Amino acid sequence: MSRVLIVGAGLTGSLCACLLRRELPNKVNIVVWDKARGAGGRMSTSRSPNNPSCSVDLGAQYISATQYYAQIHSSFYEELLAQDILKPLSAPVEGLMVKEEGMVNYVTPHGVSSIVKHYLKESAGAEVFYNRHVTHIHRKDTGWEVCRKEGSPERFDVVVLTMPVPQILQLQGDVGSLMGENQRRKLEAVSYSSRYALGLFYKADTRIDVPWAAKYVSNNPCIRFIAIDDKKRNLESKVSGPSVVVHTSVPFGIQHLEEEKDAVQPIILEELKKLMPELPKPESVKCQKWRYSQVTRSVADCPGQMTVLSQPLLVCGGDGFTHSNFDGCIESALKVFAVLKSSL
Ligand SMILES: Cc1cc2nc3c(=O)[nH]c(=O)nc-3n(C[C@H](O)[C@H](O)[C@H](O)COP(=O)(O)OP(=O)(O)OC[C@H]3O[C@@H](n4cnc5c(N)ncnc54)[C@H](O)[C@@H]3O)c2cc1C
Repeated sequence: MSRVLIVGAGLTGSLCACLLRRELPNKVNIVVWDKARGAGGRMSTSRSPNNPSCSVDLGAQYISATQYYAQIHSSFYEELLAQDILKPLSAPVEGLMVKEEGMVNYVTPHGVSSIVKHYLKESAGAEVFYNRHVTHIHRKDTGWEVCRKEGSPERFDVVVLTMPVPQILQLQGDVGSLMGENQRRKLEAVSYSSRYALGLFYKADTRIDVPWAAKYVSNNPCIRFIAIDDKKRNLESKVSGPSVVVHTSVPFGIQHLEEEKDAVQPIILEELKKLMPELPKPESVKCQKWRYSQVTRSVADCPGQMTVLSQPLLVCGGDGFTHSNFDGCIESALKVFAVLKSSL
């Protein structure tokens, strides 16, 4: 059995694990490592420190299906709809752009990380480890030796990297030298937007009286998007209290990128107070810096994957190789899986 390491428990990595488990059940041992404390990556759902049932989506907000992707990825949509992981967006969103005729928006009642958790659950038998930050990858005979920040290196036959492209380029060891000049140039050209997100958690019975569930803010230098997250997800509950998510604009994110989160959080809260003076004081606040938020320039021609070496196999995927949304990650995972299938 080949031992396959997938680096990243975001949507691309979890779907790669699920496809391997479903399609090549007896051929691989699947191991997933993520440097974070839990699953989700940029599809992350944070919980209130005081009440775990009060949650907020700090990254992706909706799953938006164009007619084209609804058709070619219909099996993925059907599976998530059948399990109530996705529900059509029904709450009012002010300023939501209809990018394309016929596009359907979905929300995730249990938080957007429930999509990623579903695929990890479907990868039954895969060993999933958090707090494993990959630092070096060395070629060793017919496989790879993978080092992490703490703990001993481990050996794998195949490695799949699914983190944002700049984090792939930061890896030490042999990855850089094995990459062709053309591949390196393509990866170096990839760019991402940056922004901050705040999650505000409230006590049960707190009322937030606004006529919308989410709203895009125009003409504000700091804040771009606000959602009453439980209302957006049709989840209003008396037991857990509401939650609010705030996304900053990209220019604000870039301007404050190198500052500490603790210094930036009060600036965002102050701006929020100006926009929503009636908003009650939250019980707790979480600030997230998205250094790599959404892809603004992907790998040329959106190949879905890049094979750095075929023997032993080291392949990269993720939204940097397609585009930054649910369908982009599915597309990438399918391309990565096709490479794995042909070599295992
Ligand atoms: C603010 C924001 C809003 C968004 N809005 C939407 C939206 O509304 N709809 C939508 O469809 N998409 C949206 N997106 C984009 C979507 O979230 C991403 O396209 C998608 O989550 C990318 O998944 P991924 O698995 O490719 O990468 P990631 O989710 O980034 O997963 C990569 C994982 O690799 C891990 N990792 C990184 N480096 C290492 C290392 N050295 N060792 C171990 N682990 C490592 C990370 O911890 C991470 O969990 C949004 C993103 C953000 C940030």
